[in-house]
Amino acid sequence: AEKTVILDGAGVRRALTRISHEILERNKGLANVVLIGIRSGGAYLAAEIGDSLAVIEGEKAAVGAVDITLYRDDISGQIPHLPVGKTEIPFSLEGKKVILVDDVLFTGRTIRAAMDALMDHGRPDSIQLAVLIDRGHRELPIRADFVGRNVPTSLKENVQVIFDSENKPVEVILEK
Ligand code: 5GP
Ligand code: MG
Repeated sequence: AEKTVILDGAGVRRALTRISHEILERNKGLANVVLIGIRSGGAYLAAEIGDSLAVIEGEKAAVGAVDITLYRDDISGQIPHLPVGKTEIPFSLEGKKVILVDDVLFTGRTIRAAMDALMDHGRPDSIQLAVLIDRGHRELPIRADFVGRNVPTSLKENVQVIFDSENKPVEVILEK
């Protein structure tokens, strides 16, 4: 398969730093802002954005993770014995501004399911979406508020977001 590097390590870092600044600008700081990453890639990226926000703002945002495997409407019926992933949101979302984080935005079904899952943890004031890569092909009326890189893809292509052994993002590759 033909592989093209879309972002190298420095490129990913710059994108996440820019997204962090955009989050701060949009929300006028970090008051009531919480980050929720979608396992697994989105959770690693939420941690990175959390670190970046702390460096820029000198203040920490709460970071949680959600696993939406069992909520996916298009697969839950077909695969009855999926392993139950771990959702870790050890705080209430009542009145919070939730930044949902994922690695790749595609049809939008994962985000729809994640929003469903979040509602079990209280009623947030707002939900905003940050993704490293938007590869297009939406099937639902969902868009990202913060995007690392828009990558128009064909349905046959695949985006690889590569993390190292410490779950740090190191590279994004388009595989044809
Ligand atoms: P969607 O639910 O929007 O169709 O797909 C988004 C979810 O599937 C994300 O959580 C993402 O991790 C995964 N995904 C969809 N397409 C790709 C892709 O091309 N590359 C990677 N790495 N993940 C993808
Ligand atoms: Mg995923």
